[in-house]
Amino acid sequence: MRTRLACSFVLAALLAPAADVAAAEGVRVRWLGVAGFAVEAGDDTILHDPYLSRPGALRTFFRPYVPDATILEPLLASDGPAPEVGRGDLILIGHSHFDHLADAPWIADRTGATVVGSETTVAISRGFGLAKAQLRRADPGDRLSHGAFDVRVVESRHMTLPTGSPPAPGVVTEPPAWPMPAVDFRLGDARGYLVTHRPSGLRLFFLSSAGLHRPAIEALKNEGVRADVLLISTSGRTDDFVHTLLDALRPRIVVPQHYDNFFVPLADPDAAVPIDEADLAAFEAEVASAARELDLAVEVRRPRLLEAVSYP
Ligand SMILES: [Zn+2]
Repeated sequence: MRTRLACSFVLAALLAPAADVAAAEGVRVRWLGVAGFAVEAGDDTILHDPYLSRPGALRTFFRPYVPDATILEPLLASDGPAPEVGRGDLILIGHSHFDHLADAPWIADRTGATVVGSETTVAISRGFGLAKAQLRRADPGDRLSHGAFDVRVVESRHMTLPTGSPPAPGVVTEPPAWPMPAVDFRLGDARGYLVTHRPSGLRLFFLSSAGLHRPAIEALKNEGVRADVLLISTSGRTDDFVHTLLDALRPRIVVPQHYDNFFVPLADPDAAVPIDEADLAAFEAEVASAARELDLAVEVRRPRLLEAVSYP
């Protein structure tokens, strides 16, 4: 398994028609809770926002954040419930809040993976002690290749609170001392990731928070870029969030995420229960309504925690 990071401009893949069904059978996606996913095809594995320690609200807010080795170690095992975590070559970080970034440097340190994200993600990971060689700053428009996958970095935004601001805003440019309070994992710059499985053309679009940088989404639409599967955060979305994404990217499958209570430990039977079932149902209704308006056939697939799903 060799990690290769390079800028590449794979126009052919970007312009390819909808994914070849047979060739995409080897792409497996496992939900890790919150915005965390593992994507694997053959020997190539990509993780997105793996947040697995989930230490509970009291420990999260009243103690410095420490990745929990007793939870993470078994997950790295090849016979564990999410063996891709130990095989991940790239770890894409959507934004730098603790529920997205806080376990990634620990995982990368153990596995040799490369953490990919904003300047803030890079600085915080350096503070943890992750080697420079295992960090890759991701700026909008950047393209990376790893094995059978191409990754395109898309500018994004975090959802905002009723105050009009996102939670824990700000950038981190200098490596901070670890461990540090969870609230010191500042947002940084949000990134979306368009992941293309080159052999099949299957495209997955990850958004770690339900905010949009509209010009970036508009640019994808104008390019004619379709995403077969949207894996998108639902919480705090605006009224037009779903419609804007469906209109621009014309997906076939929508996977909602970040609706679970990340203060409930992963091993708890209730770990994946939606915080707000009514809101998740409303999200599904918004997908159905937008699909009708746009004349698209779109299926909502609510993920099951730690279950691997093959796409398409
Ligand atoms: Zn966040």
